[in-house]
Amino acid sequence: MAKIDPDQYGVNTLAVRAGRQPTGEGEHSEPLFLTSSFVFKDAAQAAARFAEDEPGNIYSRFTNPTVRIFEERLAAMEGAERCIATSSGMGAILSACLGLLKAGDHIVSSRSVFGTTINLLNKVLSKFDIATSYVTLSDYAAWEAAITGKTRLLYLETPSNPLTEVADIQRLADIAHSHGCLLVVDNCFCTPVLQQPFRLGADVVIHSATKYLDGQGRCVGGAVLGSEQLLGENVFNVLKYGGSTMSPFNAWVFLKGLETLNLRMLAHSRNAAEIAHWLVAQEGIEKVYYPRLADHPQHELAVRQQKDFGGIVSFVVTGGQAAAWRLIDHIRLFSITANLGDSKSTITHPATTTHNRLTDEEKRQTGIAPGLIRLSIGHEDVSDLKNDLYRALTKALL
Ligand SMILES: *Cc1c(COP(=O)(O)O)cnc(C)c1O
Repeated sequence: MAKIDPDQYGVNTLAVRAGRQPTGEGEHSEPLFLTSSFVFKDAAQAAARFAEDEPGNIYSRFTNPTVRIFEERLAAMEGAERCIATSSGMGAILSACLGLLKAGDHIVSSRSVFGTTINLLNKVLSKFDIATSYVTLSDYAAWEAAITGKTRLLYLETPSNPLTEVADIQRLADIAHSHGCLLVVDNCFCTPVLQQPFRLGADVVIHSATKYLDGQGRCVGGAVLGSEQLLGENVFNVLKYGGSTMSPFNAWVFLKGLETLNLRMLAHSRNAAEIAHWLVAQEGIEKVYYPRLADHPQHELAVRQQKDFGGIVSFVVTGGQAAAWRLIDHIRLFSITANLGDSKSTITHPATTTHNRLTDEEKRQTGIAPGLIRLSIGHEDVSDLKNDLYRALTKALL
């Protein structure tokens, strides 16, 4: 069976079939190649592979057939020429930065990105004279004002974590390009079935496959996507020589995850919307953050830019941190963990976990209230999730 042409099919067909290259054994599911190295038929072929005169596998730090199927499938789904799979989401961000930047370059990043991304930029890349300025995600004038002659990358996540703020990717791509910069979007929260940043002008897409692409909390992995010209030499060399390679076993698990991604994202979104609407109607809730809600500040933009609204819902309980902690401590069904994108629903207190590095003043400025709770809604019965939240909320408000 021939490989399928990504331009001919929709994202759901690609999620199930893109990248398949049967071995001749007649297997239906994708084969798992657990092998570190590959053999050559003779000395001349070995020489040709090393000289890059002949394409083919040499060593699984560079290429592996199972990892390649994952890369081709995710590239087809995002509408990218090239995907480079990495050992983790952070490995993807590091590989992209090392591949695309040099000492002296400058990054402008949204303030509302994954906490470890901020640590990577501030504590690691800064040592190599790559500086980062931070701006508010939806303040377009601030993005423009932060760009200097040295700026090479604009970096964001949308919707943001945990407040689900949505940024106009097209508008930020236009700002980036008018200053000769690249726009990098971490598409972890939406995945390509809900949002396709390349269609909106992004140059690079980052994934933590650990989250929704796996979707069942099993493996750690990531990916960098973009054009062949941008990633081919630059980012692939980081992987080849730096070693942030995805394991073939993990690639196989992620492939199975991609096959159900659309069904899962729609189910996450449906359950999350039901929880968000229910929370709005409860006593003792000051505010609910979810882009589907009509009073969300970027509701219209989210409707335009995304196919659905995703699985993350945040809310502020009255009574501050003490009430938020009481609520979390009385939860029975939700897992108390900062992870997200799992079939199991999770609950976390951002101010004292994912956002604990912020000063009280920074928390005030960025809306990380003491009573803020973030939910990642999974696939349990929504009635059970509501009952669990209701009972814990009643205890929290005593
Ligand atoms: C988890 C996460 C990452 C990092 O991914 P790992 O696979 O944990 O290294 C990056 N970006 C976002 C938005 C994340 O949620």
